[in-house]
Amino acid sequence: MAQLILFPDKERSVLRRHPWLFAGSVGRLEGRARPGDTVEVLADDLKRLGRAAYSPRSQIRARMWSFDPDESIDDAFFKRKVAQAVARRETLPELRGQDGLRLIHAESDGLPGIIADRYGDTVVLQLTSAGADKWRKAIVAALIQTTGCARIFERSDSDVRGLEGLEPITGWIHGEPPAGPLTIMENGVHLGIDVVGGHKTGFYLDQRDNRRLLGELSAGKTVLNCFCYTGGFSLQALAGGASGVLSIDSSGPALDQARANLALNPHLAADRADWQEADVFLALREFRKAGRTFDLIVLDPPKFAPSAAHAERAARAYKDINLLGFKLLNPGGLLMTYSCSGGIGLELFQKIVAGAALDARRDARIVKRLQGSADHPIGLAYPEGEYLKGLLVQAD
Ligand code: SAH
Repeated sequence: MAQLILFPDKERSVLRRHPWLFAGSVGRLEGRARPGDTVEVLADDLKRLGRAAYSPRSQIRARMWSFDPDESIDDAFFKRKVAQAVARRETLPELRGQDGLRLIHAESDGLPGIIADRYGDTVVLQLTSAGADKWRKAIVAALIQTTGCARIFERSDSDVRGLEGLEPITGWIHGEPPAGPLTIMENGVHLGIDVVGGHKTGFYLDQRDNRRLLGELSAGKTVLNCFCYTGGFSLQALAGGASGVLSIDSSGPALDQARANLALNPHLAADRADWQEADVFLALREFRKAGRTFDLIVLDPPKFAPSAAHAERAARAYKDINLLGFKLLNPGGLLMTYSCSGGIGLELFQKIVAGAALDARRDARIVKRLQGSADHPIGLAYPEGEYLKGLLVQAD
């Protein structure tokens, strides 16, 4: 095994169990290692720190598999780690029996670069790092053994693979493709999942709890769901008794799936739902001009700031939609607003929303802080895992 030897003092983050080693921390590589190979990590004084996946093309030069310098990284390791991640979820009552569930949440589950989402008896696997890519076979075998799933689809087409020098890979890697459309039941609502063509692995499972909360708030309310994707929030609002739900997304295929999802739920009042294919930034301005208002507004935009470098432009975009959101909110109304940008922390996000309320001349207060569901845990040693943050804000 090649040895990755860190510069002096650069072992501190490893000792705190942070899984990433940046290029600037790495002094030298002794021996030969190809992308994804397991290397031994040593401090400058040659103290052994653990084992990591080497990724020469990436600024994240290595990702720690283990902080135990004697733990073998082999098929048995992945079997153990995958089983642990799945078992962890079974201990949480709110996750037990969920049809749609994130089984492995990468770094926060001790498996850097590995995401696995289960939709019924189908698992979707996404590998985003050189190390994860190298261990595909072991990971797939571990998933089959642990979950007994009927099939696995690989959706390794995230942009971040490019940073690791990896090509996109997609396709069925275990079992037969499903005979018909894939559906899950979430908070009492049926949802179709397009694992091949949908966003990410097909669905945004991280918002499960927040969608349920929206349902609980919706009785008798007029709801505006911005960036609705396949209608997850919209359907919960209808199920909760909203008097009307207007949903906006710029993606035609997402809206087609949203309409199909509504049709899967004949118990919902379809006549209360309207779908609009539009740019939210423009649509909200049009509503403003037309004097339209709502009791409950959801803003769940895509990642405006993938990294801290984009934070400033992203901040302006968040400010813009939140300002418009406040202006369209009826007195006493609720704004449910999110950022899933890693580059925008909670503190900054709250500042942006506060600035938006001020500019909209609305007195408002946070009544709840929101985060991802429990199957998207945040490793305590890995604060980067806290990408999704939300605020439920009530305005006078
Ligand atoms: N709330 C959704 C997830 C939203 S993902 C859920 O619970 O499933 C973000 C969505 O924003 C995507 O569907 C994308 O198509 C849409 N989108 C991105 N930019 C947009 C824009 N400027 N206007 C409208 N929709 C946009």
